[in-house]
Amino acid sequence: MAPKPVPVTPLPARALASVEDLAAAGLAPAEDRAALEQVAADFRIRLTAEMQGAIAAPGDPDDPVARQFVPSAAELTIRPEELADPIGDGAHAPVPGLTHRYPDRVILHATHTCEVYCRFCFRREVVGEDGALPEADMAAALDYIARTPAIWEVILTGGDPMVLSPRRLRAVLARLAAIPHVEVVRFHTRVPVVAPAKITDTLVEALDIRPAVHVVIHTNHAQELTPAACAALARLARAGVPLLSQTVLLRGVNDSPQALEDLFRALVRNRVRPYYLHHCDLARGTGHFRTTIAEGQRIMAALRGRLSGICLPTYVLDIPGGHGKVPVGPGYLEPGDSPGSHRVTDWQGNRHRYDDPS
Ligand code: SF4
Repeated sequence: MAPKPVPVTPLPARALASVEDLAAAGLAPAEDRAALEQVAADFRIRLTAEMQGAIAAPGDPDDPVARQFVPSAAELTIRPEELADPIGDGAHAPVPGLTHRYPDRVILHATHTCEVYCRFCFRREVVGEDGALPEADMAAALDYIARTPAIWEVILTGGDPMVLSPRRLRAVLARLAAIPHVEVVRFHTRVPVVAPAKITDTLVEALDIRPAVHVVIHTNHAQELTPAACAALARLARAGVPLLSQTVLLRGVNDSPQALEDLFRALVRNRVRPYYLHHCDLARGTGHFRTTIAEGQRIMAALRGRLSGICLPTYVLDIPGGHGKVPVGPGYLEPGDSPGSHRVTDWQGNRHRYDDPS
């Protein structure tokens, strides 16, 4: 007998982009609506059909997918340490739309638009505002890159660069390809996971260009890796695009060894190498998402030994003010009792002596 077809729940037809939409979908309780309208006045709302379908417990604000995209009244609490530009993009902008923090790479903010608006976003003050970078600014940014031979890598971000049409992406890539010293282009994107239908053959073909294109997928919980998202990742992997991931450590979403283990294993299974686990930046109104660094270190220490090295990202902090990223994972090496001697801790917490060559 032929197997019974598995019933497929149809996805909602369109993205949810207002408190009213969220309420109609059963994602925003009536009593919170006034506060949520206040949040939405400052920070945009958008939740794709794919991510709405990935919410396992609709109406539960603690669902790890809902928590990332459904606004909360907690966003109205701005803590003294929180900043409008937490990683200091503006302090390193030689021309509009470009951040040049490290000598060999620049960030090109190709658009401020995203498929989803994440409640913890470190660029939440600028995303969603005015769409693609105006042509005059794009031309000035490309001109800066062309006359700065130290720039080896261009990081396309935004917003989310993969919201641009394949035609537009191809045009930007062709202009970068004409600059001989640019050898690598890196996309940072949520699109393959939150809007996987956008990863079409045409888009994948546009990425097949010199300079070498690498794609860093932003994803925070295994529940986001729906069958359609996995198929989109497979399309990119089959085309030979190197895939990496970045994850933000978020209270109530993935702040446990089990949640991160599930996510990192799922990523590697889908041929995505976990690259960074970001400590949550000091963006305004995001304190309810932030763990302490000590909590992050405990989680990373618990994962070492429990997970293969190819599943383990580097836990990093973007130093507020634009001073760059540094690893802040647990330390395993301490000075020993004599010069050149060290004490090293293994994954089970046992200490050993190690001596440098005398
Ligand atoms: S997709 Fe990225 S840039 Fe856009 S809101 Fe989310 S975290 Fe911010």
